[in-house]
Amino acid sequence: MKLLQQMTVMGHERVVFHQDPESGLRAVIAVHDTTLGNALGGTRRWCYASEADAIMDVLRLSEGMTYKSAAAGLAMGGAKSVILLDTPGQEPTEAQARAMGRFVDTLSGAYIAAEDVGVSPQFCAWMREESDHIMGDQDNGGDPSPFTAHGCFLAMKSCLAFAGRPVDFAGVTVGVQGLGATGFNLAKLIREAGGDVIGTDVNPHAIRRATDELGVRVLADDEDLFTLDGVDIIAPCALGGVLGPKHIENLKAPMVCGTANNILVDPESDAQLLKERGIVYAPDFISNAGGVIRLAGLYLGMTEAEVDAKIDEIEGTTLTILKDTANHASAYDAGVAFAKQRIDAGRQSQTV
Ligand code: NAD
Repeated sequence: MKLLQQMTVMGHERVVFHQDPESGLRAVIAVHDTTLGNALGGTRRWCYASEADAIMDVLRLSEGMTYKSAAAGLAMGGAKSVILLDTPGQEPTEAQARAMGRFVDTLSGAYIAAEDVGVSPQFCAWMREESDHIMGDQDNGGDPSPFTAHGCFLAMKSCLAFAGRPVDFAGVTVGVQGLGATGFNLAKLIREAGGDVIGTDVNPHAIRRATDELGVRVLADDEDLFTLDGVDIIAPCALGGVLGPKHIENLKAPMVCGTANNILVDPESDAQLLKERGIVYAPDFISNAGGVIRLAGLYLGMTEAEVDAKIDEIEGTTLTILKDTANHASAYDAGVAFAKQRIDAGRQSQTV
């Protein structure tokens, strides 16, 4: 499909491309919807198989941000950006970050950048040298991942409640895929609450830290997290697109709730499959909203206490959406409907 056609189908307002020969930066910013306000979304640095893959990623991620911010009750729209790397794991440079900051600044605040995969608080600090429309450096919210993990932990509580289980992690086993910034913090909260964690990561350092510091049990080479007996909640906390029809058919765990964006390969049909199989699914754009609530909240001038209270709302919002799933094709649809109601209400209040 052609890009403008794709934007029309998905409802994007703007997609902007930039290349900077001096730093080698190649980047795309996608602004999906600004009905509720300017749009905050992370910058992802990734080596994509093709330019088309990068564009589809930024389109999907920015659409998800619209629903995430609206459902969280923020006066924020949805946007995201990607930096295309030539090789996997390419080291970030100050020149690249500054070039990205200048690119973000050309949108005059319609887009506010922050961390995503491959971007650190230091990278945000370099971007901020060039634009005020950056969050996530040490002086402006810092690393949002502990807040994302906390929100996901609260969403898990609602999954347990909705499944008719005690809201107590004692005796609960969570399978965490990805023990990085969010996955490690989530595993820590689960362990502190008395739960067990079976973890997996492609990075041996991340595994060692989780076993040494948290007593996480590591998934053996011949085990598959999705088909392992005794796992109550699957928490995808690495990259997206990890649950498709093949996995869902054989999934053993009765609940799915993680921090990763776009957990499902096809959100509409895969969420429907999960519902048909009776698996409780907390839509990712609800369960992983803690980070954006923190950074967007601080950008909008909220106090720390107001931000914390808004993150705490994730628990109630998740339960509302899980209960409303009975009236929709899936939990994903129920979540999108919840977000769209807030966007429509915002649009109407602007027209009166
Ligand atoms: P991270 O890079 O710190 O951690 C990801 C971890 O996953 C790494 O340790 C990596 O080695 C591991 N990993 C990669 N591929 C894997 C695989 N196939 N199997 C197992 N492990 C694998 O990133 P993060 O900040 O924790 O973000 C993780 C996900 O959460 C991303 O999808 C991100 O977009 C989403 N997210 C993050 C935040 C946040 O606050 N950081 C907020 C919202 C959403």
